[in-house]
Amino acid sequence: KEVFRSRFFSCPKNHSYFQANVPRIETLPVEEILKNRVLDSCESDNENSFFVADLGQIYSQHLRWKAHLPRVEPFYAVKCNPDPMLLRLLSALGTGFDCASKAEIQTILDLGVDPSRIIYANPCKQASFVRFAAERNVQMMTFDNVDELYKIQRYFPDAQLVLRILADDSKSLCKLGLKFGAPLESTGLLLQTAKELKLNVIGVSFHVGSGCYDETAFVDAVYRAKSVFDQASKIFGFDFHLLDVGGGFSHALNGDGITFERIAALLGPVIDKLFPPDVRVIAEPGRYYAAPAFTIATHIIARRTVHRVGEDEQTSDMDAVLNDVSSTEDDQPSYMYYINDGMYGSFNCILFDHQIVHPKVLYKGGVFSFDESLEGSNYNCSIWGPTCDSIDCITKNGCLPELFPGDWLYFEEMGAYTICAASQFNGFKKSEVLYTTTDHHVLSILHESFYPNHG
Ligand code: PLP
Repeated sequence: KEVFRSRFFSCPKNHSYFQANVPRIETLPVEEILKNRVLDSCESDNENSFFVADLGQIYSQHLRWKAHLPRVEPFYAVKCNPDPMLLRLLSALGTGFDCASKAEIQTILDLGVDPSRIIYANPCKQASFVRFAAERNVQMMTFDNVDELYKIQRYFPDAQLVLRILADDSKSLCKLGLKFGAPLESTGLLLQTAKELKLNVIGVSFHVGSGCYDETAFVDAVYRAKSVFDQASKIFGFDFHLLDVGGGFSHALNGDGITFERIAALLGPVIDKLFPPDVRVIAEPGRYYAAPAFTIATHIIARRTVHRVGEDEQTSDMDAVLNDVSSTEDDQPSYMYYINDGMYGSFNCILFDHQIVHPKVLYKGGVFSFDESLEGSNYNCSIWGPTCDSIDCITKNGCLPELFPGDWLYFEEMGAYTICAASQFNGFKKSEVLYTTTDHHVLSILHESFYPNHG
């Protein structure tokens, strides 16, 4: 530890962790990283948008999980954000991983994670991917239909199968039940087929839907799972010992809405009530870990001023749209701001993940909002991405101080379902990620993971 400390403190800038072949990790608060990078960008002619990932935040989410749901082992859903440092930190913390494809499995194995810490949680798999899982000894995988059982019997007859049942996802933003999950009426046929094919079914999984806003959905799903456990043992003679409670965990800390603590307060006790201690319980949280750790900063690259147009003066459809989108009640102008990441990039979450994002002013006219309060009136505005497509709109009805090209905005809690599905449409590169943590314990954990047994 001492060797590590001296290495760490002897680094050139004293605010970063430098090691060969390791991404640079700053050791300053997120605000400072945002400020430094914006100031650098003025000098270096590099005003690209960028993320700041707070690795300490990922660690605190993990501690929070352990404190409130100690019986449930998190298997992080890689699809949510496969950022390499996030994955490395979670692997060092000992979580498992939910992978949905061959490439995701390979990424996790490349980190040195034991295959027993992976669940291949995609009920409809490509045959060659099942073969790959067999070769790499990734045994746990989900299914929800008869054809999948025949496929698995052919390519990986020794797999440990987990029956994904349909949960009530009506209280969730992303309703995964439209695509996956066996209704309870069909589980008998599935278990019977598995028995005939001599397959090893070890338990049940479900997903209440991503962005779940009602914690009772978890309770209802656990009762459904219990009924399938009973059916499996009483009718088909299976000995189930795994319950997978899926994803859908909110990361919110407080407020009137759903929080992780509220889910845990219901879920933990109902699991204990229905399942004896020898049943292993895992979950597949994605958003919970990734969302709060990532902040994106974007540069205002252009602006259009919209003057109010009376209805009878409107001359084109465009006038009508602009009037609807951005005009104010009085004669004040409103503004259309164009930023350098958008719906085709990190903000694809607006379309695919039903997210509502909240722009905040980072830097206006040479002043950081963290340093001085921004005075003056607010104006209605809309915010647009950089591509030439009009769907590329981030918010239609914002209200911000008057901004100019060259100013910066930032958006917090942008770690879930953002970077992972970003495209490079129109030639716009994906936003780079900068890493930081003010928690030296996190640096030690990462150092040990990069240089095991080297102090
Ligand atoms: N598990 C599965 C099978 C999923 O499809 C998803 C998300 O789509 C997750 C876990 C992660 O869900 P969340 O990010 O809501 O926790």
